[in-house]
Amino acid sequence: MRRVSVFGATGSVGVSTLDLLARRDDLQVAVLTGGRNVDLLAKQAVAHRAERAVTAFDDCYQPLKDALAGTGIAVAAGPGAVLEAGHVPADWTMSAIVGAAGLAPGFAALSQGRIVALANKESLVTAGPLLLAEARAHGATILPVDSEHSAVFQALTGEEIAAVETVTLTASGGGLRDWPMERLRHATPAEAGTHPNWDMGQRITIDSASMFNKAMEVIEAHEFFGLAPDQIAVLIHPQSLVHALVAFRDGAVMGHLGAPDMRHPIGYALNWPSRAALPVARLNLARVGRLDFAEPDLARYPALSLARQVMQTGGCAGAVFNAAKEIALDHFIARQIGFLDMAAVVDSTLARFADLGRAPQSLADVLAIDTEARALAQQAARARHAGAA
Ligand code: NDP
Repeated sequence: MRRVSVFGATGSVGVSTLDLLARRDDLQVAVLTGGRNVDLLAKQAVAHRAERAVTAFDDCYQPLKDALAGTGIAVAAGPGAVLEAGHVPADWTMSAIVGAAGLAPGFAALSQGRIVALANKESLVTAGPLLLAEARAHGATILPVDSEHSAVFQALTGEEIAAVETVTLTASGGGLRDWPMERLRHATPAEAGTHPNWDMGQRITIDSASMFNKAMEVIEAHEFFGLAPDQIAVLIHPQSLVHALVAFRDGAVMGHLGAPDMRHPIGYALNWPSRAALPVARLNLARVGRLDFAEPDLARYPALSLARQVMQTGGCAGAVFNAAKEIALDHFIARQIGFLDMAAVVDSTLARFADLGRAPQSLADVLAIDTEARALAQQAARARHAGAA
């Protein structure tokens, strides 16, 4: 039996992962981790006969323990328990905790030298070189789970990276794609939190509308595939059916198409290096009829220019960018700053952070940079709020 663990099992990616695991009878679930959604975690642990269920929050221990009483499933709580779970032997681990909390468990899973399916975007953006070095040191394989990166990974199978001229990541443009700039300025969190094609959580949906999500993905692609900043392009593609395009030096372009369903990239990572049947909708291009593409307007999506700046700066710019983006998003959701102010907060934090070119040397370093950047971003967001009031 192949042993699998899912970190962030109760989230959107986690639930899709478990949907695929439930269709298999050749897997043993070692660990499932969650956060505050204890009821769902307990149900998942029972349904999947997990050996261990872990909540990241100490105060959720007793409710989880009660919910799993008599099942024989081991229960643990707290960030330390999540980290420890990363060391429980597993052949395949899904890293789908949201935010910086996903970093340390992901590193722990890599230390087992097996396969880590990586959904957590923050890992590559904030600690890309450290993460890849950890994987190399332990002979572990990282498989990208973001649909665009999985698409690039698949298009690169059997190819040399040196033969790649450019990689294009597509973006739907989010729910506010066709809004005029003036209206965009006054967009509310509810309006920005509605996505035309993908069913995701509120934060990532707003990041999709602002293209901060795409900016993160551009940085991820730079780190993971070792591409230069000017080799990575973004195209708006409202239908979200072409996930990425890889252009080679002989003029060929390999595109990856498919229905927008996270179970495809997750399933690809689960079955890699083989392909197995997956329960995703089949693409019928005759029915689709047309595929549209457009260059993104950088004035409308300043996050994309910030991503370029981050890649060119290197060092700890990714960690600062991610932390500032999180704080800016918190303030936007709390309606303290406007939709377009988010990029201004990130820009100001990058400008004010001392020694942006300094590369983090350890995970502890990354977390310290994250804390420092969050404090600076808080100041920038408050100043923006005060200026607007
Ligand atoms: P969700 O918010 O839906 O789920 C996040 C998961 O992390 C939940 O299990 C949550 O537990 C858990 N969690 C929350 N806080 C903590 C914490 N402090 N410590 C440990 N666990 C915690 O996120 P998504 O599934 O949407 O995304 C997960 C990651 O994958 C993100 O980095 C995202 O950017 C990335 N991603 C997501 C995609 C998508 O389609 N959604 C696509 C590609 C990448 P609980 O809910 O129980 O509190």
